[in-house]
Amino acid sequence: MHRDASADLEGRVRELEAQLEDQRRLTYGALHDLKSPVRGIAQLAEWIAEELGGEADPEVAEWLTLLQQRSRRLTVLVQDLLSYILADAREPDLVAVSTRDLVQEIWVDIHPPVDVDLLIPGAMPVLVADHLALRQVFANLLENAVKYRGEGPGQVIVQSRELDDSYELAVIDDGPGIPDKAVDKVFDPFYRGQSKIEGSGVGLALVARVVKSMGAKIWVESELGEGSTFLFTWPKLPLSHTRA
Ligand code: ADP
Repeated sequence: MHRDASADLEGRVRELEAQLEDQRRLTYGALHDLKSPVRGIAQLAEWIAEELGGEADPEVAEWLTLLQQRSRRLTVLVQDLLSYILADAREPDLVAVSTRDLVQEIWVDIHPPVDVDLLIPGAMPVLVADHLALRQVFANLLENAVKYRGEGPGQVIVQSRELDDSYELAVIDDGPGIPDKAVDKVFDPFYRGQSKIEGSGVGLALVARVVKSMGAKIWVESELGEGSTFLFTWPKLPLSHTRA
């Protein structure tokens, strides 16, 4: 390429990168400032509900329930968007992570219904990963497996397969499944398939962003009425990637 043209192009790339960084900072700042008033509104709604107890006029009680639901949704949305923006803003801190321990820890934190079991039938790898980032991936997938499964007993299976340069990990549920037309969309920010179940539609977009930042892949295979299998790969990084 001609030297002037190449310098122009480099300059333009730097300009666009700077613009992107500006936008990222602005969005982060706005979301960060929103956190506290949003939390305040949710707290006020709680206090009003507590103060009124069962005394409220039925219409007022219904408005209050709506206010509580919507402020909760707003809190989750702001928190999820912050996590999404921060996902690739920080330097990854790569360490060896036992995926079996990680999945078991997350399962306890989720407080799943007692009739939903977690099964980890085979060997699970130790991955070289940023602990927080890998936690976000598994936590979102496991939470969704529990959240979307509906009522009644069930199980969530986590398993792994060793490939040449990576591991393939799968989170399998026996929930309602995902319609064919939605399998490509579930990783889009704000895509929501289940309007009755609360959520922001940001979780899987965050998961995809983390996995892709590792140069890896994520996808879902699903049969309506049979369940969903979320699969992702994770590269085999040498332990020298870990920090001393
Ligand atoms: P949220 O859960 O906040 O809606 P996600 O990005 O985690 O956002 O998920 C996007 C959509 O994908 C959900 O609204 C739901 O319709 C669908 N989905 C995700 N996980 C599952 C699952 N395990 N089973 C069925 N549907 C799912």
